[in-house]
Amino acid sequence: MPDALASGWRSFAAAVAKPRLAQDGKVRAARAGWRALAMDAGEKWITVHGNKEGPGSPVLLGANGEVKGGLGGKFTGKNISEVRGKNDHKTVAHSRVAELSKKYPEAGSPKVEENEREGALAYRSGNNINLSPKAWTKEGLEKYAKEWDGMMNDPSVGGVMTHEFGHLLASKLEDKIGFKKFWKIVYGHLGYSGKGPLNIVNNQTSAYGAENIFEFMAESFVAYETKKSSAGMFSDHAQKLADAMWSDLIKTARKT
Ligand SMILES: [Zn+2]
Repeated sequence: MPDALASGWRSFAAAVAKPRLAQDGKVRAARAGWRALAMDAGEKWITVHGNKEGPGSPVLLGANGEVKGGLGGKFTGKNISEVRGKNDHKTVAHSRVAELSKKYPEAGSPKVEENEREGALAYRSGNNINLSPKAWTKEGLEKYAKEWDGMMNDPSVGGVMTHEFGHLLASKLEDKIGFKKFWKIVYGHLGYSGKGPLNIVNNQTSAYGAENIFEFMAESFVAYETKKSSAGMFSDHAQKLADAMWSDLIKTARKT
């Protein structure tokens, strides 16, 4: 999630009143900003508590939550989700990303890592998806889901991870297909000529998806992947658009 979440609803209202311009130059500048944030992180040690109270055990994690060491070797080669309790929110986050990575290998194998970013629940950074540990409490996540109900297609933990995966996949498909062709496909589905203001408000699948073209991509991916659309009167149209656009992008990337 971007930092703007707390004020997201106000931003949405502003976006409805005055849709933002998203011209190629701006898109490129934003992408450059993202790239600057990219991190090069490998394995890391975490502490797991399982379902038990107590100090926890150190576990060495590799890409995609693969256990590489610790716990007496008992779980080596398995996914961290098998170590953690089933109701752990982070387990859900890890397995959702693992599931999406299998389905959309174009995204690479994003690691789900814990890196605090104030005001963000989760955010995509480089090839990975980060969780802000301080925000990942049961209470925090429940509050988030309640506050964003009806404004995001799916404000649950799985939905948040699907949203972040959408940001990542969009960026990877853009690299694979090529910048010009990628946005030509997107704009084609949006009925945008490339000139003048881009109106995504009438095509968004959720209130948050109207924020800007990047949130539109992430929220339309949630709609495409989960068939959940929360944009009220526009949802039928927006769901169809999301389905057509994302299958077009994925098909094109797989042919490239
Ligand atoms: Zn987002």
